[in-house]
Amino acid sequence: MTIDIRKVTVLGTGVLGSQIAFQTAFSGFTVTAYDIDDKALAAAKERLGKLAAVYATQVPGGGDGKAERTAAGIALSSDLAQAVQDADLVIEAIPEVLSIKQDTYEQLGKLAPERTIFATNSSTLLPSDLKDFTGRPDKFLALHFANQVWHFNTAEVMGTADTDPQVYQAVVDFATKIGMVPIELHKEKAGYVLNSLLVPLLDAAMNLAAGGYADPEAVDQTWQIGTGAPAGPFRILDVIGLTTPYNILVHGDDTSKKLAQWLKENYIDKGKLGIATGEGFYKYS
Ligand code: NAD
Repeated sequence: MTIDIRKVTVLGTGVLGSQIAFQTAFSGFTVTAYDIDDKALAAAKERLGKLAAVYATQVPGGGDGKAERTAAGIALSSDLAQAVQDADLVIEAIPEVLSIKQDTYEQLGKLAPERTIFATNSSTLLPSDLKDFTGRPDKFLALHFANQVWHFNTAEVMGTADTDPQVYQAVVDFATKIGMVPIELHKEKAGYVLNSLLVPLLDAAMNLAAGGYADPEAVDQTWQIGTGAPAGPFRILDVIGLTTPYNILVHGDDTSKKLAQWLKENYIDKGKLGIATGEGFYKYS
C-alpha cells in the first residue's frame, strides 16, 4: 500500500495553524484551512497575508509573487465536513484544551474519508490522550512543529503503539517534502525531543540566576563559550516570551513556584516579557 498525501487540511488557523498551512501550500500541496467561524477566518486571512510578507523577504524562493500566490491559494472554510471531505491528511492545530480536541476528533472521525490520516500538533498532550476519539487510532499520530516553521524547521513525529508504521513513514516523508527536518520518536514522550532537552536547561539557568549564583549574562556566556551554542538559555527565554515558562512553573512543585514568583516580581510585573515587549533579560531596540 502506498500512501499518497497531496491534499492537506489544517484545523485551526492561529499562530501555528496558519504557519503550517502556509508552509504546506508553499511546498506545492493543495491546502484547506478550517476555523470555527467567519470572524476566525477573517483573522486567518490577515495572518496569511502577514506570513506572505515574511516569506517574500526571508524565505528562499518566496519572491516574484510566489508568497502572495501561496496565501491566495489556501482555501478557507468554516464547514468542517466540507473542509475535510477529500483530505489525505488533516493536521490539527486547535487550542490546547483536551475537551475541545476530543470533541473535534469525534466529529472528524465521522466526517473524514476512511483513508484520511489525522495528525495533532499538540505540544503537551500525548497522542494516546486523543487516539480513542479519532475512530482510527492506526491512522493517528503527532506531528509537532515549532513556532516560525520556515526558520525553526523541525517536525517531531510521534505515534502511539496503534499507529500503522506505513502511516508513520508517510507522515515522515510528508514532513521532508514540506521542508521540515523530521525528528522521529520511537515511542511517546511528553515534551518530545526538543522540550525534553530545553525545559531542564531553562529551569537550571533560572535556578542559577534566581538563587543569586550568577547573572543571566554570565549564565548565557558560560553556555555559549562552553558548548559553542549560538545563544544562551536567557536569550532563548526572551524569544519564547516569559509568560509561557511562568504559566508552566506556577503549576509545578514548590521549587518551580519559587521560580515563577521570581520571574513575576523581577520581570513580568515590570513589563519585561521578552523580545515582544522590547525587554526581557536583555534590552532590544
Ligand atoms: P492559537 O490560539 O493561536 O490558535 C488556535 C486556533 O484554533 C484559533 O484560530 C481558534 O479560532 C481555533 N479554534 C478554536 N476552537 C476551535 C475548534 N473547536 N475547532 C477548530 N479550530 C478552533 O493556538 P496555537 O498557538 O496556534 O496552538 C495550536 C496548537 O498548536 C496547540 O495544540 C499548541 O499546543 C500547538 N503548538 C503551539 C506552538 C506555539 O508556539 N504557539 C508551538 C507548537 C505547537
